[in-house]
Amino acid sequence: MNEFITKLRRISGTDSVLTDEDSLAFFSQDVYRTGCRPLAVARPCSISELSQMVAMATAQGIAVFPRGGGISYTDGYLPTTTNAIVLDLRGLDRILTISAEDMYVTVEAGCTWATLDAALKPLGLRTPFWGPFSGGKATIGGSLSQGTATFGSARVGPSDVAVIGFKVVLSDGSIVTTGSGAQPHHTPFFRHYGPDLTGLFTSDAGALGVKAEVTLQLEKRPDAVQGLSFAFTDVTACFEAMAEAARSGLAGEVFAVDAELLRQSAGNADLKRDLSTLWQVGRSGSGMLDGLVRMARLAIAGRNFAKGIPFTVHVVTEANDITRLNGNVAELRRLISPNGVEIANTVPTVVRAQPFPALAVTAPNGRRLLAIHAIVPFSVGNELHSLTERIVARYADDLRANNVIVGYSFATVGRSGLLYEPVFYWEDSHELFHRRETPPDMLAGMAQFTANPKGRALVQKVRDEMVDTMFMHGAVHLQIGKAYPYLRDRDPALVALLNALKHHVDPKGLMNPGALGLATPNPHHG
Ligand SMILES: Cc1cc2nc3c(=O)[nH]c(=O)nc-3n(C[C@H](O)[C@H](O)[C@H](O)COP(=O)(O)OP(=O)(O)OC[C@H]3O[C@@H](n4cnc5c(N)ncnc54)[C@H](O)[C@@H]3O)c2cc1C
Repeated sequence: MNEFITKLRRISGTDSVLTDEDSLAFFSQDVYRTGCRPLAVARPCSISELSQMVAMATAQGIAVFPRGGGISYTDGYLPTTTNAIVLDLRGLDRILTISAEDMYVTVEAGCTWATLDAALKPLGLRTPFWGPFSGGKATIGGSLSQGTATFGSARVGPSDVAVIGFKVVLSDGSIVTTGSGAQPHHTPFFRHYGPDLTGLFTSDAGALGVKAEVTLQLEKRPDAVQGLSFAFTDVTACFEAMAEAARSGLAGEVFAVDAELLRQSAGNADLKRDLSTLWQVGRSGSGMLDGLVRMARLAIAGRNFAKGIPFTVHVVTEANDITRLNGNVAELRRLISPNGVEIANTVPTVVRAQPFPALAVTAPNGRRLLAIHAIVPFSVGNELHSLTERIVARYADDLRANNVIVGYSFATVGRSGLLYEPVFYWEDSHELFHRRETPPDMLAGMAQFTANPKGRALVQKVRDEMVDTMFMHGAVHLQIGKAYPYLRDRDPALVALLNALKHHVDPKGLMNPGALGLATPNPHHG
């Protein structure tokens, strides 16, 4: 094995291949769980290095687990065998081309959404889906490999809609180009030319190959932005208001939280961070006066503005000028107000002022967290929520005894999808992953808890029941990883096709084995 590590190091230098205990432990953990400890962590810095590393590993029967920013919680990149390397793709972080004329951008897959957004903003451009809340760490390759929602999602849907083409390294090290860039003298400006093979590699959890480059659509960045917030006493009215906002097509983001989630996310009062937030809000105004007004409103509303309100809905709308923005705002108020009460727009204002803040990977109070989700049609939201609440009620005593709390957040994805997200918070020890990935000043202010294996097992049990209920109600999932029942009772003809594709691109089954639940290879092959 030492020979393999030495050869890996020859490809990209000694520092790019880690084998120390701490690194192996860190790279075998995600936000939620721990996988097998790999042989090494390799960090390619070019597509050629990546292709050589993958080819060398698989030639020796060593499995490859691609990892971007690493801040997912569905075992997506966790090794399922110790005979493995983890590929840390954050070394592939360059922005390769920005074409303002042809409206596309090509980046290496390890570039973060925050880095891309910072480069596009001065040009008055952005991508139609432009990042998750975790975009300071989440990579574009990671997000597109598992499907991500947030900024722009109410208008255009999940991250996949923004992609035009990929360069993907397959398990033998060969490189596939999708989209219009796949022919000589053709730029990657267009996705649809014959069968959509770009789509094949979206949300594949890295089971089909490692994305090395991504080309994304560009759009003009609107100049005027406003957030609106509303309070609701019951979930039915909350969902109806969200659906109305989504159907109107006037909102970039529509999201909601229940009182418990808001309480868990609020954190301890922190003057330094609050002032920095106010400053960001001020800077995000379209003029100095507007900025000051926003800061003053936010300061008055303070941290406790929504304390105890059962559900708050937050909507962000954009336009190219103030007149059109005011029109959108008036229309959204008309659609949402009938069942809700407008409140201070603190949440959307802060979110848009600082879309990619430094984030903890636990709750700000130090509790461990696990978010699970389903995307369902709006017509199913109420029933799914009442059944989920019934599960929580059935386990209420156990949850209390084991210090587990459940909160909810919701968002719209495109015109017809309700993203329904129960979030578990529980008292439990922090792993190396949580200590390293939480900003030190936040970590210093957090409570530390002792290991709570009973609480952890309970979270998994309740989670599994909720996911079964989601399945029974026609849910689909982003971020399938190795955790959601993607293949359960799926059309056999489709499963056969998928397995054949997997077999073609990864005949030995060494590309992120376990991801999507795809079949392991025939042991008699190669
Ligand atoms: C605090 C917090 C906030 C979050 N906010 C959001 C949010 O707003 N919206 C949302 O949808 N999600 C959110 N998430 C979940 C997660 O951060 C995002 O989905 C994010 O896009 C994951 O990107 P990543 O680069 O960290 O991917 P990783 O976690 O590194 O990987 C995800 C999957 O993609 C695969 N992969 C990674 N890179 C590649 C590649 N180049 N080629 C092939 N496969 C690859 C991995 O094997 C894995 O299966 C949040 C998570 C946290 C902890």
